Amino acid sequence: MNLDPRTLLFSIFMVYGLSVISLYVAATGGKRDGMRKWALAMLLETLLWVLIAARGVVPDMLSIVLANGLKAASHALILAAILEFQQRRAPRWHYFVPVALTLVMVSVLIDDIDGRFIWGGLIFGFQMWLIGRALIGDAETRAGRAWRLLFAGVVAIAVVLILRAAVAFFGHGEFAQPQNTAALQPVQVLSFIVVMATALLGSIGFVLMVKERADREIMHLAMTDSLTLIPNRRALMDYAGHALARRNGAPLALLMIDVDHFKVINDTHGHPTGDKVLHKIASLLAARIRGYDFLGRFGGEEFCVIAPDTDASGAMTLAEHLRVAIAAAPIATASGEVPVSISIGIAICPANGRMELKDILVQADAALYSAKQSGRNKAVCSTEQVSNEQAGTTNTHDTTR
Ligand code: GH3
Ligand code: MG
Ligand code: MG
Repeated sequence: MNLDPRTLLFSIFMVYGLSVISLYVAATGGKRDGMRKWALAMLLETLLWVLIAARGVVPDMLSIVLANGLKAASHALILAAILEFQQRRAPRWHYFVPVALTLVMVSVLIDDIDGRFIWGGLIFGFQMWLIGRALIGDAETRAGRAWRLLFAGVVAIAVVLILRAAVAFFGHGEFAQPQNTAALQPVQVLSFIVVMATALLGSIGFVLMVKERADREIMHLAMTDSLTLIPNRRALMDYAGHALARRNGAPLALLMIDVDHFKVINDTHGHPTGDKVLHKIASLLAARIRGYDFLGRFGGEEFCVIAPDTDASGAMTLAEHLRVAIAAAPIATASGEVPVSISIGIAICPANGRMELKDILVQADAALYSAKQSGRNKAVCSTEQVSNEQAGTTNTHDTTR
């Protein structure tokens, strides 16, 4: 393969230039998600590769000193972009010292290409270490996958820096010089490939990182009830479906919870107070379910708990625990204390039995109706399963009192 360094330099300039345009188009409004800083970093890269390509045509101060300074500044901006995305901060010297040190060292070593590559390796290597650390040091960033593209880029650049420094250490810095047109050396080829790859993958990775987080936020909104801040009906049904599918022969309980005489609370204290009561009830329930149970708002003043690996007696204990917790203390609101109680209907998908979610819901609803009929503030477990087996009839069974 006959690669021509001038063509490669032109391609790098094109790749960076086009990525700047795409990034500025993608960066929306005044959002502080790091996109603008990343785009600016890519703009500096575009400029510095023009300067590098113009070596010999423009003064060395520009094509060597300024180009290296821009390189360090672009790394600093990449770090700033990632930290802005993560809403984290770094000490100011992490940004400015490498840039200042690069300008000083490259000015001093303007006629010493080997010295420049060794010092460049140290300073840029330190910046790569800072960027790599920022990427792996944030759990939310690592929740996605795109950060790996950036991290791979950091590692690739670190490898090139080490190789360049090693070549320079043995007195052959020209082997790694981008403008050296004599005969392309392996380190030169590798450097070109890495620069080109990181230009593309880095920017795509960063945009993906921003997109991944936006997706997570939208998903969270789509699955959360805005009033009570617990999972909404969609999330609840999703979870119930999955829990039913992977219960592996274990029983599963569904508790349908309905606030008693909630309409009276609304009518007496007003709708806003009713809202606060609902919010408070959701928090109380959420605080009392077990780690592997799932609570969601089914709709209106109704909630559901999905309790995996729970049989009728376990579900009854849990339901009683919740019922007593809500009945125990009136809920404090701006319009005074509001006494509340809940009724609970329980349906069980028995061990080794098979039931459709809609049938479990029907059973829980029937049990809830039964709890309401027998005086409210009660938990009733549907015994349809048992009754069916025994007498072929439908029934519910109150085990509370
Ligand atoms: P029961 O004991 O039989 O369940 O009586 P209830 O009054 O709780 O039942 P009903 O179904 O008659 O009334 C439910 C009320 O819940 C009516 C509805 O306006 C109210 N509600 C539903 N969603 C909300 C909400 O988000 N906020 C408020 N404040 N009220 C709501
Ligand atoms: Mg209701
Ligand atoms: Mg009600």
